[in-house]
Amino acid sequence: MAATRKVEIVIIGAGPAGLALANWFRDSDIRVLLVDTKPGPTPRGKAEGIKSTTNEIFDSFGIGPQITAESWRLEEIALWGPRKDGGDGIVREQVIPDRAEELGKARESLLQQSRVEHHMLQNLLSHSSLEIKYSTGPTSVQIDESHSHPGNDYPLSINLARVKHDENQANGTQTANDLNEDGNIEEQIRAKYVVGCDGAHSWLRKQLDISLEGDLTDSVFGKSSRVVDMIPKTNFPDVRRVCYLRAASGTILMVPRNNKEIRLYIPVESGSALPDPKDLTFDRILAAARQIMAPYTLEAGAVSWWSAYRVGQRVGSHFSSANERAFLVGDAVHTHSPKAGQGMNTSIQDAYNLGWKLRLVLQGRVPVAPGALLQTYEAERRPVAQDLITFDRGYLKLFSASSAQFDTEFLRAMKFTTGLSIRYLPSCAVQLPRGVDALGPSLLKADLVPGKRLQDFQVVYQADGVSTRIQTRMQATGAFRVVVFAGDVANAELLARSQRLGEFLADPVSGLGRLTMARGDTSATWQQVPVEVLVVHCADRNRVSLLDWHEVYRPWSSDEGYDYWRVFADAESTHDGHGRVYERLELDGKKGCCAVVRPDGYVGAVVDVDDFQGLRGYFEGVGMLQAENPVVNDKS
Ligand SMILES: Cc1cc2nc3c(=O)[nH]c(=O)nc-3n(C[C@H](O)[C@H](O)[C@H](O)COP(=O)(O)OP(=O)(O)OC[C@H]3O[C@@H](n4cnc5c(N)ncnc54)[C@H](O)[C@@H]3O)c2cc1C
Repeated sequence: MAATRKVEIVIIGAGPAGLALANWFRDSDIRVLLVDTKPGPTPRGKAEGIKSTTNEIFDSFGIGPQITAESWRLEEIALWGPRKDGGDGIVREQVIPDRAEELGKARESLLQQSRVEHHMLQNLLSHSSLEIKYSTGPTSVQIDESHSHPGNDYPLSINLARVKHDENQANGTQTANDLNEDGNIEEQIRAKYVVGCDGAHSWLRKQLDISLEGDLTDSVFGKSSRVVDMIPKTNFPDVRRVCYLRAASGTILMVPRNNKEIRLYIPVESGSALPDPKDLTFDRILAAARQIMAPYTLEAGAVSWWSAYRVGQRVGSHFSSANERAFLVGDAVHTHSPKAGQGMNTSIQDAYNLGWKLRLVLQGRVPVAPGALLQTYEAERRPVAQDLITFDRGYLKLFSASSAQFDTEFLRAMKFTTGLSIRYLPSCAVQLPRGVDALGPSLLKADLVPGKRLQDFQVVYQADGVSTRIQTRMQATGAFRVVVFAGDVANAELLARSQRLGEFLADPVSGLGRLTMARGDTSATWQQVPVEVLVVHCADRNRVSLLDWHEVYRPWSSDEGYDYWRVFADAESTHDGHGRVYERLELDGKKGCCAVVRPDGYVGAVVDVDDFQGLRGYFEGVGMLQAENPVVNDKS
């Protein structure tokens, strides 16, 4: 008889989505079991492009530096088209910078999915509450909905089995055989939550009877595309730029990789050079590429991967099921063309949205009541997936647009692909204290808006003038941050306002002290507070002293003394320039404001520095001021 044991979460699928979700739990004692039918991490191919928001997520998991060091930044995009004089061949039409001004940093870098998975996996391995089983998959899931909520039980029953593998000769990849549903059950797992991160053919989605809505075809780039990763030997001058090549004989999207390789995407039906035979060979793909790139030459050096794919543009009817006991994340619940480089990014961002919510519920920091935090996952991420499909259709059409239209449209598209335009609707986690209609035009224009991601900006530490970026300060610990934009605190009245706010933030009875103050006086206890308080002022740093601030802004611990890393200035750095935070976020330095930033870096609320009730109301809304008793995990 198969062994039975309990875990809090079963994650099905250890691709980008599953690994990102598991990373939310790496410093907790929440038991997470990650299973994947494949024998190990993705060896090659698939996604490459990492958007800056996703890099911020890696920073928050503590793996940003490794990933940045291995990645290749994209700086320029070249557009090539047919010769205007009617002659044969292609000519360069324009080169545009790959930049989104608002980001203040690189928009995109490239690193292959296998390396991204590698770093996320390594980050998990030393944490004993997380277990990863490859060559393992589920054969059945049962959800006892009568036990759903309140949350100290294990209503899910999942059977797991081992998988045998076959070598796929054509590409050297491995595919899983069907799991043996009868004789091969290895374990029976009781769990509180199950999350399907199991890709486009999601097993869990089928078990939950959730349908995918939308088209099965990638309408502009054709029903299928070919993709090749290889070292080119060529006289094409833009081989190290991202290039869109449009010739009478077809279309190529060419992307430089982090070694001397390039990736070529060649849609099958975009021209006559590449017909659509089922038995397409690498040589035929190469021949088609040569025809499109003529008069430039192309020979293949080492070829590391080539494949064919067909993509539907579809979104799941639901992202969760069974009273928020089961969730779907990433490709399991939305698919689209890979050409805008959104699949891996969106999958990781879905997981990032869900992970902190599950963490807070499982730690007993918020109640498991229906109508609460976990429902915001579907409410927030499904519209993003729907927008992505709409965007994807338009984006693909862009490549058949005229060169003159291209850069305007492309710049617009870049805002979307960076995630700058995502804004979650009001909920318990995104609050507009004065109602949606009360948002004035200037607040809507500003980027410090509830529901949008807090823009990453450069500040300097008050204590030593060292520059840093605010998102790197926001590690994925499950903590909210109250960021007090205190204004020009060289003005005594503005400093006094921040001090009154500090008293409220530290008060355990009528304020937020239960959330902001440590239960103990060591640095370790301070690192576990559910709400961290940070300050960004815009005064002359030399007229401000850290020790003038209320202790909630510079807490004391018995082992390490003062915390110097919570008060920042919007000021010139000795080496890195000025972040101009107040200017970029359109903040009034004579007034300031206070933002609640959720654990995933999105703004939950923006209130006036004096609006104590607005702040308290936010945490009451999320449920953090009601949930007194942490859920105790049953360790049996
Ligand atoms: C050619 C190509 C190029 C691409 N380029 C980009 C790009 O540049 N940028 C970008 O963002 N995206 C790109 N994508 C898309 C990207 O690869 C996917 O969107 C991304 O991998 C989705 O991540 P995921 O974790 O949701 O799913 P997957 O990566 O599909 O992972 C699912 C995991 O679940 C496992 N699994 C499946 N079924 C089971 C089961 N029953 N039990 C247990 N485990 C199971 C699988 O083995 C797999 O490991 C590209 C895709 C392709 C095909």
